Amino acid sequence: MMKFADLIQENAEEIAALDAVNGSKLFTLCKVIDIAAASRTLRYYAGAVDKIHGTLLKLSKGLHGYTLKEPIGVVGSIIPWNFPTAMFFMKTGPALAAGCTIILKPAEQTPLSALYYAHLAKMAGVPDGVLNVVNGYGCTTGAAISSHMDIDKVTFTGSTEVGRKIMMAAAASNLKPVSLELGGKSPLLIFDDADIDQAADVAFSGMFFNKGEICVASSRVFVQEGIYEKLEKKLVEKAKATVVGDPFDPKVHQGPQTNKMQFEKILSYIEKGKTEGATLLVGGNRVGQKGYYIEPTIFADVKDNMTIAKEEIFGPVLCLMKFKTLEEAIKRANITTYGLAAGIITKNLNVANSVSRSIRVGIIWINCYTVFDVGCPFGGYKMSGFGRDFGLEALDQYLQIKSVVTPVLNSPW
Ligand code: NAD
Repeated sequence: MMKFADLIQENAEEIAALDAVNGSKLFTLCKVIDIAAASRTLRYYAGAVDKIHGTLLKLSKGLHGYTLKEPIGVVGSIIPWNFPTAMFFMKTGPALAAGCTIILKPAEQTPLSALYYAHLAKMAGVPDGVLNVVNGYGCTTGAAISSHMDIDKVTFTGSTEVGRKIMMAAAASNLKPVSLELGGKSPLLIFDDADIDQAADVAFSGMFFNKGEICVASSRVFVQEGIYEKLEKKLVEKAKATVVGDPFDPKVHQGPQTNKMQFEKILSYIEKGKTEGATLLVGGNRVGQKGYYIEPTIFADVKDNMTIAKEEIFGPVLCLMKFKTLEEAIKRANITTYGLAAGIITKNLNVANSVSRSIRVGIIWINCYTVFDVGCPFGGYKMSGFGRDFGLEALDQYLQIKSVVTPVLNSPW
């Protein structure tokens, strides 16, 4: 695994180019963020390999028992197209460390870097048959993985709709356990005492990083009324200053959407926002006539029941909302079927602490956003799924616990 991590870093230029061509990721950011995180993920889990063990049990008199932690077996991993590299290692790192074999299906839109990783794995000495990349569509290859009788576990990242299908297929076949990382409609709460420049930076990058194609995007930004006007102005300035274009150009901030379907879906949500009465502050159009480029778009006066406030757009569209009180902000943040992530910007520790406990999501960022670390478990509440990637918690998803019990003759206790 350490060798694999070295090889990723040695080939960073080539991998970043694959993800830029195939997934329209910004070449430079991909190198600095995604690839660095991928190799760190492998190293983190490589370090865990010799620390996986069971425990001695305290049983009734006359019994001796302990647990063994065993690999769960063959793991099917089905991943989406928005972070082809990060997702690959988020799933593969802990599964390899747990001693499992893996059949990974990348998204049909972004198969290239996954194939390259299979090649690097071989060069690193991963034995044949341990890490298998199988390309294909969801309804064929993905469905075959979820319903296969010889696959012992499925780990999935993608839409809630497909997550439901996978769970049903697992239930209808061999009852394999599944873990699901699904969609989100994440709230970012900005309180009156926030530093406006910092808040604008966090809110803007929280939404527009990776052209909004990120499950944790801060797509609902709730701003307390005292600073609302100032913040709105700053966000609009940032949107206007964003350079949209070729992902290989280091001056570009936002590349094209990954595929035509996504591009059209985002534009149709923008139309819906307009017709349902939200105020379009900036953006709303495609950029140029060629390629899937969309202007960073901000809507104001968004109501909680509007489609753009409820459904995951998965593109560069931010919904701005105003709130008065802490209680109102918490209540509205929680009005969603999703529960993936949330952010809070405030200098007040009591507010940060109480809001953190009141919002039903798997991760809360305080005075920052989209901060991922392999040491920090990540996953959803509610319809954003269940199970955790990252952290030592992720290892448990790939392990079985076996109890071993034996009598102790003439035991004094
Ligand atoms: P998707 O659910 O359409 O596809 C994800 C994967 O599932 C792909 O590999 C696809 O081929 C496969 N798939 C499709 N139909 C299948 C089926 N019937 N059986 C088995 N597999 C099938 O999602 P997407 O459009 O690729 O990605 C966008 C979605 O992923 C968004 O909803 C986003 O929020 C979510 N996402 C979540 C996270 C997270 O960590 N929670 C991260 C990234 C993306």
